[in-house]
Amino acid sequence: MVVGKKKIAILGSTGSIGTQALEVISAHSEDFQVLVLTAQSNADLLISQARAFLPSHVVIGDEAKFIQVKQALQDLPIEVLAGSKSLEDVVVMEEVDVVLTALVGYAGLLPTVKAIRAKKTIALANKETLVVAGALIMPLAKEMGVSILPVDSEHSAIFQCLMGESHNPIEKIILTASGGPFRGFSREQLRCVTRAQALKHPNWTMGAKITIDSASLMNKGLEVIEAAWLFGLEQHQIEVIVHPQSIIHSLVQFEDGSMKAQMGLPDMKLPIQFALGYPNRMRSDFPRFDFRDFGQLTFEQPDISTFRNLGLAFDALSKGGNMACILNAANEIAVDAFLKDQIGFLEMSDLVEDSMAKGTFLAQPSLEDYIETDKLTRVNAQNWVKTYNKR
Ligand code: NAD
Ligand code: MG
Repeated sequence: MVVGKKKIAILGSTGSIGTQALEVISAHSEDFQVLVLTAQSNADLLISQARAFLPSHVVIGDEAKFIQVKQALQDLPIEVLAGSKSLEDVVVMEEVDVVLTALVGYAGLLPTVKAIRAKKTIALANKETLVVAGALIMPLAKEMGVSILPVDSEHSAIFQCLMGESHNPIEKIILTASGGPFRGFSREQLRCVTRAQALKHPNWTMGAKITIDSASLMNKGLEVIEAAWLFGLEQHQIEVIVHPQSIIHSLVQFEDGSMKAQMGLPDMKLPIQFALGYPNRMRSDFPRFDFRDFGQLTFEQPDISTFRNLGLAFDALSKGGNMACILNAANEIAVDAFLKDQIGFLEMSDLVEDSMAKGTFLAQPSLEDYIETDKLTRVNAQNWVKTYNKR
């Protein structure tokens, strides 16, 4: 039970989720207080956020920017820390109630493990944490009595559909996908799409990594794995449907055949606010959905022979062990290489598939095994990219 304002640590406050979370917190300053802000390299924005929200601690990941941040905040009672290890220290601070994991990629794993061990409520945007190590995170959260509240819009939708249904088994869930900017494209068309085209998402404005993942359907693949862990589902209980308008955020079907959906305009502030305010729905002035603005809501099957990443993610889920950790690490390198114009759009799936085929499979990995798998997969994937560029 939180008494007084909920005290929040935001990991990745300068990103798309982080900045929207700060908007939500500003609008509800009577309910929330920011205790920790962190960023990897955007020192200027971190400094201005710190001056506006007066957290007790800020962390700049890039140690070369420590002096800049420290000097800019020296007139304020704010402790400035640097480096990725510091994330693990700030999340365990006594006063923190909720840790919002709004940082991108594998970097979310270790601070989240530390936060759960310290019994902090997790508002989870960083889906990669569950993709990499869901088998470790979910039992740990249960053991510690910690709630993991999804921020990802699809998972928030399912979580909302399940409220009041804890005694009713789920038959299946349906995750909706916008289809991204290349919906309907053939492999031939995908071969020459550019970074700039891939970065233009039709419905959502997000960080670069998740935007590329959305264009390649890897985002939906990661979300399938995330959902399996969050809601305790088998692979055959998870379906994906393309819904280009992004109004229905996902659905649950129960054993009587009844389906529940959660709807709204595509706006991440809603699931962010829901997770931070849980179990209460807080008032908002977000624009409302109006049927008169949408003549039709449409649905189509995802094309998994063209967008292979979705199939690869289902494969990783059914294989279990460290396979999704391998998929994630290879994908992070693939997206980075695509963003640097080192490989093409289709090669991202080639690299992930190759990494999954060649990686060392471990059926029951420990935390150390996940760390090692991530490291090794990255090295091999980097070499793949180098070799590809020499061809
Ligand atoms: P982003 O790139 O906009 O922001 C990432 C944040 O993390 C920044 O503050 C950055 O400084 C920090 N960061 C980056 N690398 C880091 C590292 N190695 N160590 C520590 N901090 C680091 O990303 P985003 O779009 O806000 O996404 C954040 C997470 O939320 C991702 O896991 C993404 O999949 C998930 N998510 C995002 C959205 C969205 O609408 N943006 C929706 C659903 C889920
Ligand atoms: Mg999502």
